[in-house]
Amino acid sequence: MEFTADELWSQVLEAARSRLTEQTYRTWLAETEAAGLTDSELLVEAPSAFHVEWVEEKYAALLGESIERILGRPLRLEFRSGRPASLPLLPTVELATPLPPQGPRVPSPALNERYTFDRFVVGDNSELATAACHAVAQEPARRYNPLFLYGGVGLGKTHLMHAIGNAITGRDPASLISYLPAEQFTNDLVTAIQNGTTSGFRRLYRQSDVLLVDDIQFLEGKERTQEEFFHTFNALYNARKQIVLTSDRPPKEIPGLEDRLVSRFEWGLVADITQPDYETRVAILRKKASDDGLSLDAGVIDFIARSCTASVRELEGAVIKLLAFSSLTQQDITVELARRALQVTRGGELRHRGATLTAEHIRKAVSRRWNVTVEALTSKRRTKDLTIPRQVAMYLIRDLLEYPLVRIGALFGDRDHSTVIHSIRKVEGTMTDDPSFRRSVEALRDELRKPGGWV
Ligand code: ADP
Ligand code: MG
Repeated sequence: MEFTADELWSQVLEAARSRLTEQTYRTWLAETEAAGLTDSELLVEAPSAFHVEWVEEKYAALLGESIERILGRPLRLEFRSGRPASLPLLPTVELATPLPPQGPRVPSPALNERYTFDRFVVGDNSELATAACHAVAQEPARRYNPLFLYGGVGLGKTHLMHAIGNAITGRDPASLISYLPAEQFTNDLVTAIQNGTTSGFRRLYRQSDVLLVDDIQFLEGKERTQEEFFHTFNALYNARKQIVLTSDRPPKEIPGLEDRLVSRFEWGLVADITQPDYETRVAILRKKASDDGLSLDAGVIDFIARSCTASVRELEGAVIKLLAFSSLTQQDITVELARRALQVTRGGELRHRGATLTAEHIRKAVSRRWNVTVEALTSKRRTKDLTIPRQVAMYLIRDLLEYPLVRIGALFGDRDHSTVIHSIRKVEGTMTDDPSFRRSVEALRDELRKPGGWV
């Protein structure tokens, strides 16, 4: 059978997808594309040099096997990265006086010593981000500049950013690491403008060997700060200094962020961190317990991991709450105590002031989010503006309440269970293909999971 490069690669990907976790597939393979096919070789393009190295090291064998199975003969598999290794020099505002060799540092908050790579548990949800952070810490400004990390609240972005800083300082104490929230950059700039000291401001920032700016989405709509940041970015980039940025969403989705910054931010490597799955949550809880000398038995860990699904911060919060509750009530930590401390009912549903999340709450929340009425959502009408929210509502009811399919169908104008399955699959598929859709569904799910978040 004759294949085009695209056909062959998409079959190989299909086969790989069934053998890898969905997250791994999405992180490393989903964005690869066939770039050429000859008798002896299949050429594939990956989004970054980093992807190329990783895929070659970890998945080349698996992919090679699939090729052989599909074609009935082996074929050499070559990867290349779609992007050039470095940018040309960038325009910037010249400083009136050159930088002194060892000037004052940007007054940045200290790096948190607890935020190290050692203490960070890597799961499928953070594999790319963590690997990229390690690479940057080992060889700053060599490979991925800037490194842009994004993901929801409490998933470890700040932790990883400090880990980079801590690792570099540990190796090279003389290196000037500036860590700051984007908000501080704005505040410092405003002060500098007021005091007429903008050139001092510029000089200070351009002295950093590594600039770590947290929560860059804060620059949204702030034109002057963006302008200044653009020049700082270019100056550091030209001087081959490492820049690491974090945000709650990818560059393109930060409203009011100038295009030229979006393209700068996307230049190096953009890596996301998503919610940890159950196994990762358990691993994080075990690690916290052992790092902090707590004894939490397997049952308690399992219970917390099942009840707190939204973020790592939520997991930590649950442990703190449980410890406080146990010391206040002078009782040993058991699953029962955890249940009371975290106010969780038997079905795993979070309880808040006597209220329990129901399908009705979910239908309402989805209607609000998509701006349709609950009646329309549960009607038989098949217009496009209703189909998507209806499918999402079914998906969320299944996911959060684990209702049987037939029962879900009954909630939406008596649809049969195959329609419900189809809807849920559709949502899962779109979540895989469309990150911004995935994030909006996940955000809604987080909201619903929060105690009282649905009222
Ligand atoms: P973000 O900046 O994404 O909002 P943080 O980095 O502040 O999140 O993380 C919240 C808390 O969770 C911190 O105390 C951090 O140490 C911890 N944490 C997050 N991810 C992990 C992880 N994978 N392993 C261990 N601790 C983690
Ligand atoms: Mg943070």
